[in-house]
Amino acid sequence: MNDPRFPRTVRTSCAYCGVGCGVAVELGPEGMRLAGDEAHPANAGRLCVKGSALGETLGLDGRLLAPQVRDAGGWREAGWDEALEKVAAGFRSVIERHGPDAVAFYVSGQLLTEDYYVVNKLMKGYIGSANIDTNSRLCMSSSVAGHKRAFGEDVVPGCYEDFDEADMVVLTGSNAAWCHPIIYQRIARRKPKVVVIDPRRTATCDIADLHLPIKPGTDVWLFNGLLTWLERHGHADDAWAGEHTAGREEALAAAAIEPEEVARVCRVPLDDVLAFYEAFGTTRKVVTAYSQGVNQSSSGTDKVSAIINCHLLTGRIGHPGMGPFSLTGQPNAMGGREVGGLANMLAAHMDLDNAEHRASVQAFWNSPRIAERPGLKAVDLFRAIESGQVKAVWVMGTNPVVSLPDADQVKRALDKCELVVVSDVVRDTDTNAHAHVLLPALAWGEKDGTVTNSERRISRQRAFLPAPGGARADWKIVCGVAQRMGYEGFGFDGPHAIFAEHAQLSAFGNRGARRFDLGPLAALGRAEYDALEPVQWPVTPAGGTARLYADGRFSHPDGRARLVPTPPRAPAHATGGEYTLVLNTGRMRDQWHTMTRTGKSPRLAEHTSESFIDMHPQDALLHAVREGELARVRSAWGEMVAKVRHSGGIPRGSVFVPIHWSGATASDARIGAVVNPVVDPVSGEPEFKHTPVTVEPFRVDWYAFILSRTPLPLERVTHWTRVQGDGYLRYELAGRGPLREPGQWARALLGAPPGDEADWLEYEDQCGGAYRAALMEDDRLAQCVFVSARPDLPERTWLGGLFASATLAPAERAALLAGQPLGGGKDGAIVCACFGVRSGTIARAIVDGGLSSVEAVTSCVRAGGNCGSCIPEIRTILAEPMRFA
Ligand code: SF4
Repeated sequence: MNDPRFPRTVRTSCAYCGVGCGVAVELGPEGMRLAGDEAHPANAGRLCVKGSALGETLGLDGRLLAPQVRDAGGWREAGWDEALEKVAAGFRSVIERHGPDAVAFYVSGQLLTEDYYVVNKLMKGYIGSANIDTNSRLCMSSSVAGHKRAFGEDVVPGCYEDFDEADMVVLTGSNAAWCHPIIYQRIARRKPKVVVIDPRRTATCDIADLHLPIKPGTDVWLFNGLLTWLERHGHADDAWAGEHTAGREEALAAAAIEPEEVARVCRVPLDDVLAFYEAFGTTRKVVTAYSQGVNQSSSGTDKVSAIINCHLLTGRIGHPGMGPFSLTGQPNAMGGREVGGLANMLAAHMDLDNAEHRASVQAFWNSPRIAERPGLKAVDLFRAIESGQVKAVWVMGTNPVVSLPDADQVKRALDKCELVVVSDVVRDTDTNAHAHVLLPALAWGEKDGTVTNSERRISRQRAFLPAPGGARADWKIVCGVAQRMGYEGFGFDGPHAIFAEHAQLSAFGNRGARRFDLGPLAALGRAEYDALEPVQWPVTPAGGTARLYADGRFSHPDGRARLVPTPPRAPAHATGGEYTLVLNTGRMRDQWHTMTRTGKSPRLAEHTSESFIDMHPQDALLHAVREGELARVRSAWGEMVAKVRHSGGIPRGSVFVPIHWSGATASDARIGAVVNPVVDPVSGEPEFKHTPVTVEPFRVDWYAFILSRTPLPLERVTHWTRVQGDGYLRYELAGRGPLREPGQWARALLGAPPGDEADWLEYEDQCGGAYRAALMEDDRLAQCVFVSARPDLPERTWLGGLFASATLAPAERAALLAGQPLGGGKDGAIVCACFGVRSGTIARAIVDGGLSSVEAVTSCVRAGGNCGSCIPEIRTILAEPMRFA
């Protein structure tokens, strides 16, 4: 091998959650191999199933590779000069006519810090408005507000090693097993005492010693009760709290509540409440980790404060094995916070409402102006677009038509907007459909910069692929527009130069006032930046800092932390009238956000192929819907349709629907359209976990699925979902009106040649309402369709496997039409995506081998032996193997 570029290993970091795992990409002449980076402190070589599948998501299908402009004649490709000039002229024109607050940016926690830095600089320092908000508003802005109130700065005090040191971990509002799997596995390996607080019994409960399934929205009552109990039972650290905190009396007065009342309000047994309080009170090394179940609430900031209050009262903060810990959702939500990517923040942890800070940032940037007041937060921003107050918006790396609450309002807003610019890596998203200009951005593996994870650790994301087509780095696109708008200060020659400026600003006039300080990195040259090892801020000449506030000196001007009074209040919209159920939304194990990346991986698609409505069987009975059949979830804001499921983990009165499906992947499964748009009054974070809804039958006359090597147009089918298979696409369908001529219907839908020209196999059972057909091309399976009057269609897994065969033998053709694999037996759903092990394989191994533990299953069939995300599901199969065999 003579190519000097190979072999080499590029160390980068994962594109998904806020754990921020290191990824090692080995590049050789034969291709690439991707594994966990053993030298990265966040994961020490481990990756969850999503991280392991990153290599399967790098294809260029569906990518936006050249700027596009929409004018009277429709969409057309444009050169970069034309596209950038159109954006710059459009923004300039709106600003001249209506002022700087008439333009806005809506950006993303997927952006790199360098991208975030320049767009925030452009908006706040040059355009002179703070109308820039980020989708991080939707996941952790309540934590930001809670941190600022308590500590005086947006700081996560602890680090991941605290999970190794803790004697007790409280996981509240966090399905870490699915959403932060590497942290969850870290806890599970050492197994301290674990308390899970969650209305649902999730996979995270697998390691719980105590699960408190509190009534949705009652977290503040529970933690106020804990604060009261700790004080009354002598667990307060009077000396420490007296010296280092303020607000104790007011917080205790607002929190006062008896455990009996907590048990009644939260609807959990009193003994369990007391067991939690007793364990928390008597265990010094406690970490309370929380996530979207806490943040996404109309009282999210108070929930965060109620948790932090308990740690401040007991002095359990800043030392090994203890402290409140916000588990960040996105890979660079924290990086966005560092540069001031939220509408109510300035850069480098400085405040918009502080005149000295504003003057300092403006002086550092030498900018013509500086935003003087907070801008519009995400939900308000799209309201202002609809009302005409904001006339030009640039959406970067996010899909608000899917992800925002009351998502149909976002569609209406964008349709009314004078200029909608979207920079993205994907060509067809729900949001792009409403744009006037599309700008192709670099994706993971192509872009170069830094991200910051949940423990304040800055890591490099490094490019290992060439830029495809005309795609450009986000920072470069923004700088191109800024320069065309006539602004200086955007002549960066690479991300290292932006990072150096960002680091300089963090130290500028700081003198210890702000913990966010990267001063020693301010002089990094390109080579040092390229070689930068993961480091936790604040960065000192000696290196990074694992924990903060051990000295009891906080970031408020008087150095004291604040206990904040949190009088409890119910979710903004109560159930009642026709809306008797509470809708909760969240993530699935193997998908990420709107699936534009993870949706490309057949392996990831198998765990949960379609959206669903998880509800209690008794609620299903009351609402006349049945498991496996389609139903509609409807609120006062909108509706969506999916199949009913009984996971067994959901309490009566609640339904859960995943967030991932969009208009691009399903006809009618955008749950954002149903979610109420009420927000927390302090943080502006929407209440994704509590929308009053009803569920009603969605009547169809037939169910079907199609597997096809080529994409199919399905606009006329009542309900559809598209799933990526290995070498084929799978369509789940349902329709209204009887299929009187299913053969004709199937041929037309599949585009099969007429009559005998096609190698067309078919089977029809008119009495049973079943129809099956397959189109063969050169003895190879090209397409197949299965139709039934009932939803219980044959298993798709083994049928999908037939697409890997070069030819089908006669027996396989017969089995195909019979809908039964040769030899029988169920493959079942994928359980272990790392090794591709299905439920049927695991169940048969358990039955045949008499296996009785997860370890035995792992050593027999490998399932559970890598990331461990599937261990809770293996336990479920161990409990009832015959159901899956
Ligand atoms: Fe990526 Fe998060 Fe999984 Fe780590 S835990 S590999 S950061 S998705």
